[in-house]
This record gives sequence, structure tokens and C-alpha cells, in this order.
Amino acid sequence: MEDCIFCKIVRGEIPKEFRYKDDNIVAFDDINPAAKTHVIFAPKEHIKAFEDLTSDAILGSVRLGMQKLISEKNLAGVGYKIIVNGGGAQIVDHLHFHLIGPIGLKV
Ligand code: 5GP
Ligand code: ZN
Repeated sequence: MEDCIFCKIVRGEIPKEFRYKDDNIVAFDDINPAAKTHVIFAPKEHIKAFEDLTSDAILGSVRLGMQKLISEKNLAGVGYKIIVNGGGAQIVDHLHFHLIGPIGLKV
């Protein structure tokens, strides 16, 4: 999609270091991080929102990419959140999954 900010990132029109990339998705740092690690996982294909997603392959890529980042960033044991905003709650109308951590754990 021409004017979509995440499509521009996917196409490389906005310089970004990809934290993860495969045939289906790219992952990059959120511009306004909510924690030390805040990575956005977005399909290469422009899909507007979660309710429009039909591809299990994309979900599988997100799982693999997130598990890799969770391991690399040592987030297991320190708390993390995976968030999808949809149904109008999202700001960017290109499906994406947030991986955010560490999150303060209650003791
Ligand atoms: P949403 O509310 O749509 O789930 O979240 C959109 C996220 O995208 C926000 O956390 C926001 O900081 C991030 N974001 C918005 N514009 C850009 C951008 O141009 N580059 C990057 N890396 N992140 C963005
Ligand atoms: Zn898009």
C-alpha cells in the first residue's frame, strides 16, 4: 500500500535495521518504545488488521521470530508482553504484533 508507513519500512524506503526477517514478516524497533525491548512484527503483505488475517504461515513466522528475540534479549524470566491492537484500537492500520519487555514482575 502506497502511503502505509509499515509498507514503506517493509519496502526499505525508510531505513530500518530489521531484528528479524523471513519470507513472511519483518521485525523492527518501535519508534516510541514502551520498554527496553519493543519490537514490531509486521507481515510483508499489507493486511489491515488481525480480523483480516487468514495466513497461518504469518502466525508461524511471528512465533518463530518472537521466540528468537525472547531468547536473544533474555526476556524469559523477566516478563514480556505480546500485544495486538485491532478493531480500531490500532494506530497503524497494517497488522502488527508488539513484543515488549522486560516488564516489572510482582514479587
Ligand atoms: P498500534 O497502536 O497501531 O498497535 O501501535 C503502532 C506502533 O507503531 C506504536 O507503538 C508506534 O510507536 C509505532 N510506530 C508508529 N510509526 C512508526 C514508525 O514510523 N516507525 C516505527 N518503527 N514505529 C512506528
Ligand atoms: Zn501496509
